[in-house]
This record gives sequence, C-alpha cells and structure tokens, in this order.
Amino acid sequence: MIPEDLSELVSNPRLIPGIHNYCDRWCERCPRTLRCSVFEIEQRNAAQQPSSDQENQSFWKAIEDSLALALQMLEQRLQAEGIELTDELLRQSDRDLEQSANRAANARCVQLARQYARLASQALEQFDRQRSQCKPLGIDFPKPHAEALEIVSWYQSFLYTKLRRATESAQDEIGLDDANGSAKVALVAADRSLSAWGQLLNAYPEHQDAIFPLLTLLQKITSEAEASFPQARDFKRPGLD
Ligand code: SF4
Repeated sequence: MIPEDLSELVSNPRLIPGIHNYCDRWCERCPRTLRCSVFEIEQRNAAQQPSSDQENQSFWKAIEDSLALALQMLEQRLQAEGIELTDELLRQSDRDLEQSANRAANARCVQLARQYARLASQALEQFDRQRSQCKPLGIDFPKPHAEALEIVSWYQSFLYTKLRRATESAQDEIGLDDANGSAKVALVAADRSLSAWGQLLNAYPEHQDAIFPLLTLLQKITSEAEASFPQARDFKRPGLD
C-alpha cells in the first residue's frame, strides 16, 4: 500500500470513515466489508503478497518509505503545535501512560471481564473435549451450536480489551467519544455472548456448572459497564448502528 493508494481510499465516497474504529474486527461475519477501508487495504495487501526475492525487496522498500513518511508527518505535527520531544517529556509521557493503564486495569468492569475471559476459556475447553470425543464417530455439533461456540470464542477476550480501552480513554476529556464507542462495542459483544451461551445451555444442560457462572458474570459486566459509561448504549458507531 503506497501513500497515493491511502489518499485514494480516504476520499472514496463508498467507504465509511471510521467504521473500523468501533467494530468487532470479525471481518468474516461483517455485513459492511464493502464500506470499510481496513478491509479494502487487507484485501489489496493479500493480493500483493510477495512471491520472489525481488518482490520481497520492493515490499520492504515500500515499508521503509512509509516509515520516512510517518516520521515526516510527525515532525510537521510537532512543529505546528510547538512541541519539542525532550527526554523528560518522553519520560513523563511514559509515567502518565503507566498510571493510566494501572487505573484502567483496576476498574471493576475490566476485572470482571478478565475473570470472564479465564472462565470462558475453561468452558470452551470442555466443549472442545466433547467435540474431539464425538469426531471419530463422525458426529459434530449442529450448525447453530457450532456458531454459538464461534461467537463466544470470538468475544471471549474482546470484552476485556475493549473495556480496558474504554476505561483508559475515559480518563481524558478528549477521549470521551472513544470511551463510549469502545464501551458500546463491548456491550454489543456481551449481549451476543449472553445470547450464545443461553443457546448452548439450552442445548447442553450437562455443561450448566460451567455456563451459569458465565451468564452471571456477563450480566455483572453489562451493569458495571452501563454504570461506568452511561452514554455508551446511545453511541452511534459509524456505519454499524
Ligand atoms: S468494519 Fe467490518 S470489515 Fe471493517 S474491520 Fe470491522 S469487521 Fe472488518
């Protein structure tokens, strides 16, 4: 991808600006791939996979050119804002980032989401074992149940990542929009996970000891996130809500 391609994408009216900012990155299941610049870039990059030494050389040369362009843009921005990147400024920035990350990690909804990811992983292992036992007999889960498992697998750690980002962004006034967008996609993921686990519980009551705590945790995560980000449910994600 070269800078000219990027500027063409930015001005392409077919693409929705920022649609990828608050999506769930599940491109295979996304109904808006044709409107998304990230998807378009990934498709173009995949089509340009290097296949020879010469192509590899051009590939790395393009990356070097992009680095030079990125540094040039950064320099221009810093000059325009009158900022000088001193060592002390960088150290202060590191300290601020660390403090912000620690506060976010201790937020209640983030801790619950971390716990959920761990327990969901254990429950999914039970289903994996069941699947491998049935495989030699030529039996697999019916499609709706396999899809429900796909859903909970996809969102298992996603909730933690997005709630952590929302909590970090909320510490800064200019990050409020990002906090609400990140919390919104986390809430969507929690709703879908609840629904998928509900289906699995209904179909496989023998896994209820693993599933019930997950349903409870998801409900707690939802109420904590809604309390921490009261405007998140109303946030309109570009192209998705
Ligand atoms: S908006 Fe859709 S296509 Fe684009 S990155 Fe997100 S999931 Fe993938």
